[in-house]
Amino acid sequence: MIRVEQITRRGFLAAGAVGAAMVGAGGFGAVSRQADAAFVRPPGAASNRALAAACDRCMRCLQACPYGIVTPVPLAESLVAYGTPMLSFADGCCDFCMRCVEACPTGALSPGGERERDLGVAVVVKDACVAWDWAGCTVCGDECPVEGAITLDDRDRPVVHADFCDGCGRCEQVCPSASLRAYDASASAKGIVVASRESAAARAALAEGAISSAELAAGRTAASGEAAAPHSKGVHPDGPDATREAGGAS
Ligand code: SF4
Ligand code: SF4
Ligand code: SF4
Repeated sequence: MIRVEQITRRGFLAAGAVGAAMVGAGGFGAVSRQADAAFVRPPGAASNRALAAACDRCMRCLQACPYGIVTPVPLAESLVAYGTPMLSFADGCCDFCMRCVEACPTGALSPGGERERDLGVAVVVKDACVAWDWAGCTVCGDECPVEGAITLDDRDRPVVHADFCDGCGRCEQVCPSASLRAYDASASAKGIVVASRESAAARAALAEGAISSAELAAGRTAASGEAAAPHSKGVHPDGPDATREAGGAS
């Protein structure tokens, strides 16, 4: 596990050095784009840009999460967002227990906002999803805890409904694609992946129904430039009662 002091001391020294180099090389545009990078964040982050500004990289949220799904943004992903929390659903998913929000001392994660129960949206990756590329898998739809977030089309392929999906990550966690398919280094390891609603990948999936692994790789953290409203209909069965009501924060 990454220690807090590794991020707050060594990390910021490294980030400062890289930042100076980027700015010195005329990298203001790159720094600005990184501020808009669209990561999947823990509950209660108003936006990627707002979280990057308010977070002091203390990693108390990481330590508070009982499922170990909070992880720091790597320096290679973003100088601006380096050390801020993002979510990884490889080994777990979010049940909106809100321990990360309660642990945050700066308000970077805060209760009551419209993102309190909205982490992002699941996108189907058509060349990695077994059902889209072949047939016979319904694991994500079977496991999704939010009624109406995943339905099957007339070919039994999963379709995500963005107005119901809250980005909890259960579908990504349980997707067995990698174990059912021949290895292909160019394909996503998962047939369904949660992306930030602000990402170009989520925007493309909304328009097309499913996207390719290449579109996912190119657009998962690239900001679409358009504001995206959180879901308004899905009701997650887990988490504190106060965060469970559909349609917004209380
Ligand atoms: S709400 Fe709970 S499960 Fe979800 S990221 Fe925060 S601490 Fe982890
Ligand atoms: S607890 Fe808050 S301030 Fe600390 S790293 Fe997490 S989001 Fe940032
Ligand atoms: S992220 Fe959660 S709510 Fe959305 S489709 Fe996947 S399992 Fe369902």
